[in-house]
Amino acid sequence: MAASEAVPYAKTGGLADVVTALAMELSRLGHRVTLLLPGYRGQTTQCVRREVMRFSIVMMETKAEVTVDEELLPVTEASHPLRVFLIRYDPYFDRPGIYQQDHHDYPDNLDRFTLFCRAVLHVLRTLTEVQGEAVDVLHLHDWQTALCSVYLRALPGQYKDLQSIKTLLTVHNLGYQGIFAAEEFGKTGLPPSLFSSSALEYYGSINCLKGGIIFADVVSTVSPTYAKEIITPEYGCGLEGVLSGRLDGILGITNGIDTKVWDPAQDSYLPARYTAENLAGKQVCKRALQEEFGLLKREVPVLGVVGRLTFQKGFDLLLEIIAELMSLDLQIVFLGSGDYELEQQLRAVQAECAENIGLHIGFDERLAHRVEAGADMLLMPSRYEPCGLSQLYSLRYGTVPIVRRTGGLADTVVPFRPSTVQSKSATGFWFTEASPDALLSMIMLALCVHKEHETWNAIMEAGMNKDLSWRRSARQYVEIYQAMAEK
Ligand code: ADP
Repeated sequence: MAASEAVPYAKTGGLADVVTALAMELSRLGHRVTLLLPGYRGQTTQCVRREVMRFSIVMMETKAEVTVDEELLPVTEASHPLRVFLIRYDPYFDRPGIYQQDHHDYPDNLDRFTLFCRAVLHVLRTLTEVQGEAVDVLHLHDWQTALCSVYLRALPGQYKDLQSIKTLLTVHNLGYQGIFAAEEFGKTGLPPSLFSSSALEYYGSINCLKGGIIFADVVSTVSPTYAKEIITPEYGCGLEGVLSGRLDGILGITNGIDTKVWDPAQDSYLPARYTAENLAGKQVCKRALQEEFGLLKREVPVLGVVGRLTFQKGFDLLLEIIAELMSLDLQIVFLGSGDYELEQQLRAVQAECAENIGLHIGFDERLAHRVEAGADMLLMPSRYEPCGLSQLYSLRYGTVPIVRRTGGLADTVVPFRPSTVQSKSATGFWFTEASPDALLSMIMLALCVHKEHETWNAIMEAGMNKDLSWRRSARQYVEIYQAMAEK
């Protein structure tokens, strides 16, 4: 499995959680999994690290001396540990950021991830040829690894020895495609003929994800609804034609969560722990959250927001109704980082209503746990959401999600309706239109329902008791891997 992020090494969003949790669950199911990641700065873990490979890759005029470090991550209940290879080339990866610094992408991201992809294939070659290990499937995640499938299939002569390896490309977010100027094409080392509309060319630029979608043996995404959405112009981000051109379709497998890391009964980041049967600790978490964010300790619902500050997440919708929300009896806490404009707007509204709006700009994993636990409701008004993890964590923590009905949010939240209340299956609230009014109406409905303790508790309980583990989804991936390997 190759990815640009995985916990505990590097994380900017859900991808990092998904890659590690899936790899671990596959190990538990008895498969041998190796995770290949770039060796970024500051990736210290408790595991023993040793250098296992050293080779050079020629990139244009540069000869990059790559080293590969190995760590074995223990996986509970698995007979094999998860092997992690950190592919190191310090001029590219020993930097303060993963993709960017000071809100600007690194200008050499194409060089960085081209090198990573080529190094991944070099590692596979060493494993199969030198160490005699059989590799069945290379599971790729997002544009940063997509070129692996292009090299493998478009240059069969160069990678003759690896042709039996099948590639699965999972698209975690179509909004990030790895688009670069045409002049940079030479850096990929691919023949110029591949800079064409049937391969990597996209409106005059290079599009790494497009190449991956065309050349991967199988393409999947992270929820069934998103799989259907992305073949439409509304959600396809310009790649709907390429995606619907795949005769075998796009598979949609909903992400699970690591139920050990995200468990309110054992979470050491929380001031108190709790279960669906005994929720007293959640109240302690709420008080502590109000204090941590400097809010007035009032008996009002606290709404939490955790996420990357981007247009995708619908923060602008929320900002448009902030005045109306402040006229209601509630408090909001925001944890996020990203778009500079949104950061500034949030800072301004927080400064005006500091007693009822809490804000933490930055990436803070522990604080994310405390918001998930301490809030009463979680807001996710996403314009699109491939799967979404924050709402899954909130379900597990008894924090009722209010989400837009899109992608994985539609697949994982059972909306409040007379029928679902009666069957005790409702786990949250949906609104359909991506508008401030629709969001406001749904928050108001949730606030009304919150007053009816019995109904609210049933909603919390249904969410907390949901099986959100990786087991089912990991099995679906195994079925795909097996079908691919047998083809
Ligand atoms: P996406 O992958 O689009 O960012 P997800 O909801 O799938 O959205 O996953 C987001 C993940 O990143 C969750 O684990 C969430 O807790 C975490 N996260 C997002 N922003 C922050 C932040 N500022 N601090 C800590 N964790 C964050």
